[in-house]
Amino acid sequence: MHKIVQYRNKCIGCAVCFEQQPEFWRMSKKDGKATLIKGVGKKNVFILTIPDKSVIKARKIAETCPVRIIKVL
Ligand code: SF4
Repeated sequence: MHKIVQYRNKCIGCAVCFEQQPEFWRMSKKDGKATLIKGVGKKNVFILTIPDKSVIKARKIAETCPVRIIKVL
């Protein structure tokens, strides 16, 4: 198992993560930022455990995020 980590406060709401992996992401109607579905966290750091089969795509998204606030561990 792997983890997606998002430093949410710096999200600019470009929606790349949501478009590429909608099973893990949604766009908040409240503030326009991406939110990890069922992600756990506090303050502005959110973590979601993902299955191995999703890791390669998640890593590509992390590289594509324009503000580099997604990490895949
Ligand atoms: S790719 Fe990055 S900046 Fe764009 S919505 Fe996702 S977390 Fe936010």
